[in-house]
Amino acid sequence: MWSDGIDGVWELKTLDVHGHALPPARIVRHASRSDDVFVVLGSDAVRVNGVPLDLGIHVLRDRDELRVGSTRAFFSAESLAAIEPFPGSEGPTLCPRCKLEVEAGKAAVRCPKCRVWHHQCPEEPDELGCWLYSEKCAADCGQPTALDAGFRWTPEDEL
Ligand SMILES: [Zn+2]
Ligand SMILES: [Zn+2]
Repeated sequence: MWSDGIDGVWELKTLDVHGHALPPARIVRHASRSDDVFVVLGSDAVRVNGVPLDLGIHVLRDRDELRVGSTRAFFSAESLAAIEPFPGSEGPTLCPRCKLEVEAGKAAVRCPKCRVWHHQCPEEPDELGCWLYSEKCAADCGQPTALDAGFRWTPEDEL
């Protein structure tokens, strides 16, 4: 869902509700290699899980409900599994499937749930690749590996 920004840079996101931005609220994303942090900025007209944004800032957690007047939106920290070049890491990153190092620039999949990187090289046609090898994430977090699995949670579950 989100593409990786440059390390440690705050990036402004427009909060879209059915194609319309929620006017008094803004979402800012802090991207890093380990975790993304999303913060909502706004006036006390903005409610997060029913509580007014008194301090003008709130660090978003998965499934937070945002409300401005009668407009409602949900924040989901979930992202979809996608094959992308491994951006690299400070220490060696070991693939949980084959226990070998994932090299920077090689095609890989980061598990959307536990965020562990797995090999997924298209230039190995005789292999399924470490991510797609099994139906579930090799790090045992339970995440299905199908690339078209879709989001596991949608706000409709709550309505
Ligand atoms: Zn591997
Ligand atoms: Zn996982």
